[in-house]
Amino acid sequence: MRCLMCGKELGYGSLSDIISGEDPLCMECRRKWQKRRISFCFEGIRLRSSYVYNEAFSKCLIQYKELADEALKDVFLYEDLRWFQRMYREYQLVMMPSSLHKLQSRGFSHLRQMFECTGMEIIEPFVKTDEGDQKGKSKAMRHAIESGIVLRPDAQLHKKIVLCDDTITTGSTLKGALKALAGMDLKIRIYTVSANYRWLK
Ligand SMILES: [Zn+2]
Repeated sequence: MRCLMCGKELGYGSLSDIISGEDPLCMECRRKWQKRRISFCFEGIRLRSSYVYNEAFSKCLIQYKELADEALKDVFLYEDLRWFQRMYREYQLVMMPSSLHKLQSRGFSHLRQMFECTGMEIIEPFVKTDEGDQKGKSKAMRHAIESGIVLRPDAQLHKKIVLCDDTITTGSTLKGALKALAGMDLKIRIYTVSANYRWLK
């Protein structure tokens, strides 16, 4: 088996192989990711993250998302999988939405595939509205669209949910999602695989 990022042969039975286990990335590539247990309050909600968003992480995410390299789907949660499963044991995983045209051009739901390795229940109840969608809509509908994210009317949310995304940059998408959930009786947590430097203390 070869490392999914650099293509280097993963040594069979070598010490590094024993230490890294089934990791689809070699130790060198993995070491470039800045692992850190990040936890802070976002809009009054506990947000946790596993990595600082850096160049190596970004490169891998782009290769996965934009170049549709689906083989990379399991590398993002690999190191924190058991921790994640424990932390959010009773929660339903709610994927943050991609805009429709991005979803269509990718042809796959990158977040759902990324979180499938948890074996937990995943739903995608949000729709991200694109600019230009507002024509012919009612005033109430236009207002919802302006906030960027709409909850599908048939969404089957559990009481305890964790909003999941690959990264938090400005937090505007998450803010939009929280707005769409406002007034509902829910216990909400947020998990983003990585977090931009600006969120670190
Ligand atoms: Zn590598």
